[in-house]
Amino acid sequence: MKKVFITFVICLVYHNLSYAQSQSDAEKEAAKTEVWFPVPPVVKPAREIGQAPSDAIVLFDGKNVDAWQLENGQAAQCAVKDGIMTIVKNSGSIQTRQKFNNFQLHLEWKEPLPVVGDGQGRGNSGVYLQEEYEIQVLDSYENPTYSNGQCGALYKQSIPLVNACRQPGEWQSYDIIWTAPIFNTDKTLKTPAFVTVFQNGILIQNHVEVKGKTLWSGEPYYEAHGPKSILLQDHGDNGEPVSFRNIWIRNL
Ligand code: MG
Repeated sequence: MKKVFITFVICLVYHNLSYAQSQSDAEKEAAKTEVWFPVPPVVKPAREIGQAPSDAIVLFDGKNVDAWQLENGQAAQCAVKDGIMTIVKNSGSIQTRQKFNNFQLHLEWKEPLPVVGDGQGRGNSGVYLQEEYEIQVLDSYENPTYSNGQCGALYKQSIPLVNACRQPGEWQSYDIIWTAPIFNTDKTLKTPAFVTVFQNGILIQNHVEVKGKTLWSGEPYYEAHGPKSILLQDHGDNGEPVSFRNIWIRNL
């Protein structure tokens, strides 16, 4: 009986040892695919979703439009009130003083009330990425127009996956991820731009290849450029202008 017990203990110890050995081998194998460096930098999220995180460049915090100018370099003509900015109608589109390449952009806008006009003439503005590539801003709530020109379209190039528009008078958001085009030294295109857009948290453009700069008429094409501004369009519609608030950007 004693002999049987000793044999049992030996077997148990051997089994545990071999299990520990194999576990160690498994862990060693798993460790081969662990990557510890680089360690991503810490970015502190804002308390509220949609507010600027710690590494963002704030382009409009509700107080002034110092980050913006007219296309000719003169001061932006905007009304700022209650944390909201509106471009003075027909004063011209405004663009950031700072220039950007690859980025994540957040902005919020509100289509005007009362509703005036229809199609492309109802609450038309636009977010021009690097000044050339327009994500349409339009009151597309129960307002038919051509699909590749409705709100959320990469204008005349890519129809939004869905119509995610809120009613006019309600605040809406865009979160845009922009990968800038790359040009060869002879100014020919090396790689096109790509854009991803969420409207009100809903994916509407999914890593879309950009065909070139936005044109109202004709086929898009590229012209070589470096970092450029974010531009907000003054479309000059008949109704009240589109309002903006909480605009920030993160260089990528
Ligand atoms: Mg527009």
